[in-house]
Amino acid sequence: SIPLGYFGGIGAASRKGILFKGSSYLDQITRVTTVIFDKTGTLTKGVFSVQGEESVATADPDWKMLAISLESKSNHPIAAALVRQVGKAPETVSALQEHAGQGLSGTVSHKAVLVGNRALLERMQVQNLPAASPSDRTLVHVAVEGNYCGYFALADELKPDAQKAFSELQKLGISETGILSGDRQEIVQALGKELGASQAIGGLLPEEKSSWLENAKKKPGRVLAFVGDGINDAPALAVADIGIAMGGLGSDLAIETADVVIQTDHPSRVALAIRIGKTTKKIVW
Ligand code: ADP
Ligand code: MG
Repeated sequence: SIPLGYFGGIGAASRKGILFKGSSYLDQITRVTTVIFDKTGTLTKGVFSVQGEESVATADPDWKMLAISLESKSNHPIAAALVRQVGKAPETVSALQEHAGQGLSGTVSHKAVLVGNRALLERMQVQNLPAASPSDRTLVHVAVEGNYCGYFALADELKPDAQKAFSELQKLGISETGILSGDRQEIVQALGKELGASQAIGGLLPEEKSSWLENAKKKPGRVLAFVGDGINDAPALAVADIGIAMGGLGSDLAIETADVVIQTDHPSRVALAIRIGKTTKKIVW
């Protein structure tokens, strides 16, 4: 039978918007040694804004319109920002393909168009990719008919609560913290440094996030929590010892897959969930 105290713990958590999908997770969360966060939408707001653009001399003159036509078919927050700020494009798209964690490809006005990160354009063997680009922005590169055209530079804002998430975990004695992201390594590393994360890894495909966790889990004594919000995070949420979904604007799949759901957009509630677990344990025993 479930000790009565656990109901108190689950109730206290739910009043803070923390939903445990069973009393066993309230117990399990007290053993967590390592907390790994997804970046976009979990630590950052996931609301991008377009900061600028750059085109090369040999660009197709219509590259922006062609790129926006593809992006208008995507649900990604980057796509939403581009469509909102650069404008809608009425061009018909065919052969659309979403490359999860990388971008999009398709045919627009009889031209083959690629929109996404450097890894996608490299994989599709686009020539003349620029060697250096501004380090503090998420870049969306565009190629038309295999020719590099230019990029849009976007920025996302840190949630005001993100710093607190890391400092509260520190107070609880959890010194292993990390950030995994599909965004550029430079951006992810700078964020990790700012927040005091012990690990920060960028440039990961969705399946690379879960295999990274799979591997990290193997260390004896380590109990791993992963915190994420997106459809892309479902595999990582499933692999972690405890999967925690940010449910505020999180995807249904992430919420379904998780063991614990935080119904607000405060990542620091992860630390609060651990604290409530620990307090409950003291009462139960
Ligand atoms: P995160 O791991 O930070 O949640 P994603 O896995 O969703 O990020 O995306 C990783 C990267 O893939 C983005 O930073 C972007 O460069 C690229 N990308 C994904 N979807 C799109 C899109 N629709 N348009 C342009 N770029 C995209
Ligand atoms: Mg995310």
